[in-house]
Amino acid sequence: AEASLRQSQKMEAVGQLTGGIAHDFNNMLTGVIGSLDLMKRRIAAQDYDKLGRYMDAASTSASRAAALTQRLLAFSRRQSLDPKPTNINALIESMADLIDRAVNESISLTVRLAPDLPAAIVDPHQLENAILNLVINARDAMSQGGTLDIETELVAGSSVPGLEGEDAQSPFLKIGVADSGIGMPAEIIEKVFDPFFTTKPLGHGTGLGLSMVYGFIRQSGGHVAISSEPDRGTKMDLYLPTTQQQPLDLTDAPPAARSGRG
Ligand code: ADP
Repeated sequence: AEASLRQSQKMEAVGQLTGGIAHDFNNMLTGVIGSLDLMKRRIAAQDYDKLGRYMDAASTSASRAAALTQRLLAFSRRQSLDPKPTNINALIESMADLIDRAVNESISLTVRLAPDLPAAIVDPHQLENAILNLVINARDAMSQGGTLDIETELVAGSSVPGLEGEDAQSPFLKIGVADSGIGMPAEIIEKVFDPFFTTKPLGHGTGLGLSMVYGFIRQSGGHVAISSEPDRGTKMDLYLPTTQQQPLDLTDAPPAARSGRG
């Protein structure tokens, strides 16, 4: 509870934290302006070969700036969720092309979807964004290649790390995204959900991905768990509330314990 209080205070502080973003955005604009200037000179010199390259550079910088503002907009609009019963397996299957394009050939992808899952109650578009964020982080952590495992599963709330009380009685739909990448030491794990925390080079990371994922999942009544080890990899688990109201009938529990709880 303390961690999530700290997190919500952080989320509120985001409104004031414009300096870093403005800095990144300014760098991208500087790239566009510089390229335009070079283009003008190349036109004067009738050097159309280099002109093409500067146009590409301008276009890349402009696209980065556009992506940054898109993410900022999504971040500021994060309150307006439209949660509805969503078939998570179908949603992940519909993302197959997107995921394939996001990862590169050196990464081997395994998707394991548990059959007969209840629907999760969640905003499907925001969830797609969240999953894509996790996939892109996994890819970035595996520049030398590796394995990416995506799985779904119905679990008891009691298996959600840190969950206590009534919530621990409810079932949750778990979406796991695990990579065999560079992993993280404890002092980085502590900070990954902080807005604007990034270890990526300037212009490559906004540090908003995981704080958006965290904020969105918590607002949806779900939970996020992370486990990571340097050089071994990272596993991110999203737990979402489902349309199933009954506590989970754990198949590995002895019959007496099962009836005793009912
Ligand atoms: P960004 O990707 O823009 O840096 P995120 O909030 O998505 O922002 O991630 C914050 C930081 O958390 C990353 O810069 C990286 O250091 C770390 N991180 C996130 N996911 C992973 C992962 N799968 N493996 C290793 N490090 C990760």
